Amino acid sequence: MARREMQGDDWVIRIEQYHDWWFDNAVEFLGHLLERLGVDVVWDGGISFEPLDEDEVERLVEEIERLIEVKLKYPKESDETGVIEKKWRVYLPLTASNKRGDYKYKYLSGFLGKEPKLKKDIITLLLSDQLNGQKKKKICEICSKSTVLGLIDVTQGVYPVSNNNLESLNGVRSMKTSFKSCLLCNFLGYIEWLDRGIPFTWYMDKRGNSKTDYAYYLFPKIENIQDMHQFKKRLRDDILNEKKYSNVVPISNIKKERYLTDEYSLLLLLFEKMNENIKNLEKWDDLVCDEWAKLLIKKGELRYSYLEEIHIPQIERFKKIFEELLPYSDFVSHSFASPLKEGASKEIIQRLTKEDQYLMSKGIIMDDFKTFSKAFQIRQNCRLSTPKDALDYLIYTWRCKDGTI
Ligand SMILES: [Zn+2]
Repeated sequence: MARREMQGDDWVIRIEQYHDWWFDNAVEFLGHLLERLGVDVVWDGGISFEPLDEDEVERLVEEIERLIEVKLKYPKESDETGVIEKKWRVYLPLTASNKRGDYKYKYLSGFLGKEPKLKKDIITLLLSDQLNGQKKKKICEICSKSTVLGLIDVTQGVYPVSNNNLESLNGVRSMKTSFKSCLLCNFLGYIEWLDRGIPFTWYMDKRGNSKTDYAYYLFPKIENIQDMHQFKKRLRDDILNEKKYSNVVPISNIKKERYLTDEYSLLLLLFEKMNENIKNLEKWDDLVCDEWAKLLIKKGELRYSYLEEIHIPQIERFKKIFEELLPYSDFVSHSFASPLKEGASKEIIQRLTKEDQYLMSKGIIMDDFKTFSKAFQIRQNCRLSTPKDALDYLIYTWRCKDGTI
């Protein structure tokens, strides 16, 4: 819960960090939005700032409305008319559908779907007004702070893994499937979906008539929120580039937008892009992040979300590898499953290519040669075809240089 505090002669609003992968990123994101409005934000175990005035609340809502268009929609060419339309990213747990006559339409639910006027009222209440603490207080099950504003059910829009696994959420002892939060946690949870500082990739797997969406989001886990802010600022300003399938765009100049189909390829390409950007700076390993929370949202008939932590061993070794080649751009992305004899279907070749690229990227990221080498096993009459020079370079810089082997 946001708290008003006296600092000197001034009231400030303070939001403490949660020590949780989702909400800490959300607190950082709110701080970033406020800085963009010109608000002075103090980063110290959370964020503090002077209560927002009417104009700042208005501009914050405008920015949220703008980001809803950028982050939650993508352009799609209509099959019938050929016109480019904006579609909701319906695999996210943020849209609901309704029927008007025969026409089924999708709309945004929760805080993000509210009218701008109501958004303004909520933000004014949270970040600007002084709350009167006389009424009966209730305890929020996410931040454990008391609130006079009442509690709201926590949906996956507020905390994406809320129905599956609450273990990673600090402060929540109970494991019941439905729990409630205060208005601030609700607000922060929803706006985190608009965060441009989170690398993501999305792809659709089509088999026959059924299709499944897979969306991977990578949340940096950096305990010091000021450091997290610096890291994400670099991502937002210099690295990430919002596109339909991903915000980490392959380095090579290819006409058709290519998408990454697993979290390790996403990480590898992200590091390559960071390396390109920070080449001239000395402290490479201070500028990259080796702890991430991976969120996978899988949506076929039903929607599931999974959370996994990724701890990257010896991240500094990438600096040496990158001096000789870019493992994803020069190697993994040019490696494909190819049939030993005729008869392998296109679907099998595509699936094996995807699996092989996953195994190679995972092996390189996790410094695990056994996983890497699995990509080279012959499966279903297909073998891996890779650029040979790049493979030699990779093995040399990764495994042989400096006496690793
Ligand atoms: Zn709360």
